[in-house]
Amino acid sequence: MLWTAGLCLLWASSILGAPANKQRQKVLLISFDGFRWDYDRDVDTPNLDKMAKDGVKALYVTPPYLTVTSPSHFTLLTGRYIENHGVIHNMWFNTTTTEKKPYYQTQFVNEWWDNGTLPIWITAQRQGLKAGSLHFPGTASSYQGQVAMVREVEPLLYNYKNETAWRENADKVMGWFRDEGLDFVSLYFGEPDGTGHRHGPDSPQRREMVKQVDRTVGYIRHSAEQHGLTDRLNIIITSDHGMSTVYRKGLVEEITLFKIPGFSFSDVSFHLVDYGPSGMLLPKPGKLEKVYNALKGGHPHLHVYKKEEMPECLHFSKNDRILPIILWADAGYLINGYFPVQFNKGEHGFNNQEMDMKAFFRAVGPSFHKNLEVGPFETVNIYPLMCHILGIQPEVNDGHLNATRRMLVTSAATQAADVNSLPNVFTGLAAVAGFLVVVFIVMTSHKVLKNKRQRKRSGSSEPLPEKEMSKQTSL
Ligand SMILES: [Zn+2]
Repeated sequence: MLWTAGLCLLWASSILGAPANKQRQKVLLISFDGFRWDYDRDVDTPNLDKMAKDGVKALYVTPPYLTVTSPSHFTLLTGRYIENHGVIHNMWFNTTTTEKKPYYQTQFVNEWWDNGTLPIWITAQRQGLKAGSLHFPGTASSYQGQVAMVREVEPLLYNYKNETAWRENADKVMGWFRDEGLDFVSLYFGEPDGTGHRHGPDSPQRREMVKQVDRTVGYIRHSAEQHGLTDRLNIIITSDHGMSTVYRKGLVEEITLFKIPGFSFSDVSFHLVDYGPSGMLLPKPGKLEKVYNALKGGHPHLHVYKKEEMPECLHFSKNDRILPIILWADAGYLINGYFPVQFNKGEHGFNNQEMDMKAFFRAVGPSFHKNLEVGPFETVNIYPLMCHILGIQPEVNDGHLNATRRMLVTSAATQAADVNSLPNVFTGLAAVAGFLVVVFIVMTSHKVLKNKRQRKRSGSSEPLPEKEMSKQTSL
């Protein structure tokens, strides 16, 4: 009877809700665009070294193919390969009108982003958490009518290199965590990608920019400390892709589709070339075989695939937005249409198995081991890791916690998912214990009073035994 009552109390406490859990972990996901896995090897980076000592370092991480900015960032936010989340390119395009929009304008094309896969902000918010984003690709869009509750999108022609603005943004995000109670924030920096493109990954300018990144990492950690967040905030720093040096005319024979015998742009109704080392073509009706056969073998460093024949490991085939013919070039080569129009010294967009495309990964915070170096893993696995630390149920995704679980301290590895249920269990147990104490006392008092009445009736004037007195006193 008592146990039944106790269980009822336990159930009642769990459905009525317990006080907010004070132990919930927070996550800050930072991307430094184009930070290749080995950029800290030829530059003095005391702050990144300190972060590795205080946390976890991966040898490298493998981004999804296509190794470009918006698609790869959306994989970080969703844990899905690009063919599954549908943001297949930096550029929105319409094959009927042949209209294309560049990277920045594409950020505001809602249907390009909102096509069935939810980013972690929305999932977290639907499960009662608070999420924010600053400049992270995908921030401008809404998803099934919802947006990140605190967000900031960079203005057009934003200066992505300004170190003072970087620090202001870091402080702003720490304020969101502390003052607005956010649990998750994604924060984006547009470097060292810009410098890597302009000057090449082996340039002194790129090394200087990595020093700026390093100083900023030190500043971010200092700011977290100043805001009193270090015991709850986990910081993950990663990137969307690496960078590779472009071979120029004179050194190599460049790939120019127009010059390939048997190929004609008049056989395609839409093309997406002159965008680094990748390209896609939509042949006119009945021209697919002709276009494919002309290009296949057209250049020793050009790879030509029909969409359905793409290597499965690239996960870049099963989506209606991907065009019927896909082209990619070996590292160092670009795919030009009529003539070279790209003059960057560094590029990305290559096969994600190329070492130059691998990205950087560090993590620090109460959920992570200290001074631990782990082997490589794919960036699809970062999403389930973040969901686990936050204690939220992930959406369907292509990653797995097993790829990163060894980074987590034991309590975080096993208990974070139960973060919501633990407080209720404790409250329920306390209620049951309290209930049993009350019942015990009431029953004892009842017994004492009964004895008293019996003694009165029998005319006894003996004092009560000491044991029973003390029990009564404890009421
Ligand atoms: Zn990028």
